[in-house]
Amino acid sequence: MADSDPFWEACARHTSRHTARTERSIYVCDDCCGRLQREAFNDRPPLHHGAEFQGFCGLCNERTRVRVRLWFACAPCWSMVLSYQKNFAAAKAVHDYWEKTVRPALPNLRLIETEETEVRPYARSKLTKKLAAAELTVLDFMVDENGNPLFHIELKSGPGIIDEMREFQLDINDSNDIIGVVNKTGLPAYIFHVQLRSVFEPPTRSTQAVNIWWTDLPTFLASLRKIARRRGEDKQAGYYDPRCFRPIDQFLDELRARGYERMSEELRRNRPEMS
Ligand SMILES: [Zn+2]
Ligand SMILES: [Zn+2]
Repeated sequence: MADSDPFWEACARHTSRHTARTERSIYVCDDCCGRLQREAFNDRPPLHHGAEFQGFCGLCNERTRVRVRLWFACAPCWSMVLSYQKNFAAAKAVHDYWEKTVRPALPNLRLIETEETEVRPYARSKLTKKLAAAELTVLDFMVDENGNPLFHIELKSGPGIIDEMREFQLDINDSNDIIGVVNKTGLPAYIFHVQLRSVFEPPTRSTQAVNIWWTDLPTFLASLRKIARRRGEDKQAGYYDPRCFRPIDQFLDELRARGYERMSEELRRNRPEMS
């Protein structure tokens, strides 16, 4: 891109011109560079490609040949771009757990990723968050048994270790999404927390999943302590007792006991409400 281009010093991820004078850098493989350009950056090429070397790709998380690439981007868009690698790693951890532990024991249960992380440009939603939540029909994963839908799984991830957290934070928009989907589909939902950590191989970094915990929606909602504004932001969040989460090695017993049927009953008796 040249400085005569109309999108010079404009955020690559914003579809209409949105001034952003800061060049951001990411180390990605050639495939992921193409993917970012096509799917996230409105077909705007990087300002610069560096020399190739061996490291972790900032998008697909593979150890491969990467180059530094620069784009102009605004801060919120860039943090979205940097979150993709983490989202991919968290989703992969759930697939890996399922393949290793659930599938051999309960082969009729099938894990389907219903809301894969989309690499996409910035777009403003037409609906309010709450209205959108009421229309939503899928969370991150769905589990069925011989084609019969059983329950949803909502995936949360971050560096936190459940046993060391004072409280578990979840944006009100996110809890409304879960409640909206559960009410609309009549299917119960589990919430997974995947603990992620960054592993540096300077100047690149990969995201690795360390551990998974789970809870069910009624237990989670019952552990709400307060709703408050997030520090430094104008978003509201719920603050939950982290002891509502259990280690992933107890999830297979929950499935064997068909705990999701009990949860279904409970949600029918006490229909959850959005905040
Ligand atoms: Zn890649
Ligand atoms: Zn932007």
